[in-house]
Amino acid sequence: MIADIGGYTEYMHSHRTLLGHAEAATARLLEKVVDAAPGFDLIEIEGDAAFLSRDADALNGATLATVTEAVVAMHRAFHVERRLVELNLCPCDSCTQTSGLKLKFVAHVGEVAIQKIKRRRNLIGLDVIFVHRLLKNPVQVPEYVLLSEDLYRSGGASAPDHPVHEISQDLEGIGPVRTYFVEVEDLTGPLAPLPDPSVSQRLGATVGILGRGLRHKLRPRRTAAAH
Ligand SMILES: [Zn+2]
Repeated sequence: MIADIGGYTEYMHSHRTLLGHAEAATARLLEKVVDAAPGFDLIEIEGDAAFLSRDADALNGATLATVTEAVVAMHRAFHVERRLVELNLCPCDSCTQTSGLKLKFVAHVGEVAIQKIKRRRNLIGLDVIFVHRLLKNPVQVPEYVLLSEDLYRSGGASAPDHPVHEISQDLEGIGPVRTYFVEVEDLTGPLAPLPDPSVSQRLGATVGILGRGLRHKLRPRRTAAAH
């Protein structure tokens, strides 16, 4: 499974951002996302995405349900933390304009080999490439989980009772595949009201992010005059 933060590019290009604040916020968000899926192993942070895995054989056919449960938990954790960043006391655009940040997921079940280098565990194999290629897809909604056909079918009779949209994709180097996406909102219902962070939480969030920004100067305004 890959959890991928969207809206990141626009976010990084907002005018008055303190260098380091967007990166600090992204790191915090990804940490919370990973923590919200304790049954999954973090394989790698890949830019603004987290690549996670879990042994499907041990799930006794509940693979799809396990993935959707994790999606719901990770999505909520993401938005709780995103709001905390937004309400921190730093006035820069990176910290105040996080509402455009979204979280999307792609997921697949398949065969992998485990490669150990030093103390790092890496997954390799065609199915690892496959799940990464799913990120390049035509889905238009901002927050969704995109399932491979193998994963979708693994649900058997207990296929999700949410609206599922079938699409066709042509994956680079792999060919045409059928995939299925569910809007996160259809899994969770509209996001329940998020708890209001306390002042000390807001202060903590500010210190965590300001600490990184202090080493940097204000990023210059991007204007047409610069071209
Ligand atoms: Zn800031």
